[in-house]
Amino acid sequence: MQTRSKTRLSAAKSTPLIPRPLLKPKPKPSLHLNDQITPPKREPSETGLTPSIASVSLARNASNQSDNEASPLKKRKPSPIKPKQGSQRNPPANWEHVYDEIKLFRQTNPAPVDTIGCGILASPTLPPNIFRFQTFIALLLSSQTKDPINAAAIERLITQLPGGLTPESILKVDLETLQSILRGVSFHLRKGVYMKGAAQILVDRFESDLPKQLDEILELPGIGPKMAHLAMQCCWGVNDSGIGVDTHVHRIANKLGWVHTKKEDPEATRRELEEWLPSKYWAEINPLLVGFGQVHCTAVRPSCDTCPVSNECPQKDFKKGK
Ligand code: SF4
Repeated sequence: MQTRSKTRLSAAKSTPLIPRPLLKPKPKPSLHLNDQITPPKREPSETGLTPSIASVSLARNASNQSDNEASPLKKRKPSPIKPKQGSQRNPPANWEHVYDEIKLFRQTNPAPVDTIGCGILASPTLPPNIFRFQTFIALLLSSQTKDPINAAAIERLITQLPGGLTPESILKVDLETLQSILRGVSFHLRKGVYMKGAAQILVDRFESDLPKQLDEILELPGIGPKMAHLAMQCCWGVNDSGIGVDTHVHRIANKLGWVHTKKEDPEATRRELEEWLPSKYWAEINPLLVGFGQVHCTAVRPSCDTCPVSNECPQKDFKKGK
């Protein structure tokens, strides 16, 4: 049985949200676009869960996903996704400067996604297949669910399921019990069904592991392009399969004029971004903009007055408080 472990939620409450790497902002002149945001080294804890999670780590942080992941209540038709190399159209003017400014801002302005993002909830000390499965489940549950609620649900699954959170334990537990553990998560009834369906496929076809092929991940129930790309990044370290475009990435990319897509079509945002954004940024742009959207450029009340990119942002109406 897996060891009961301390949740990231509780860890987040007891530790400063500002991750150590973020406490030492680099002077502006030293920050360049080519400086990759690298994840902090994650030390194993006695309890089995990763301790403090720092910084704008990989695209391990999907977070609060009301996004392009089709609603769990809808049946999706997976679309073929071919990796592109970000050179199929001219990039927006000055995007590198804006990107750098947001990156610099995020170094001193941590967000929930940095500590309890769904992509970093599983302990790296777990056996690799279990780590991937728990990360995958955290991604699946995160759709339209806030990070703290998602983190608490993962904690309950780990501690309440006999044998911990594994494909086998999901198959053994009855659906009603599983759904009761998920209570609080958006669409928890349907997600419980998805979890069982996915666990069955992983056990039957992939030796209880997450497949490494994007198309095969897309075949799993409840998984759309955004989650599939994040799973490739968080579970397999494959960072160039595509961009995980959630509601924050979708909203902010449009505000900045980086894409021009409809509000209800984050998938179009993914495609447009992938046409010009170099693939080396495809993983980090998710946690970068998710965190920016969580603490600064929020959907309801963006802090335009103090925004580091207000001079470049074409959202004049927001800046006037209209
Ligand atoms: S100026 Fe306002 S709308 Fe534009 S990125 Fe900044 S906070 Fe968001």
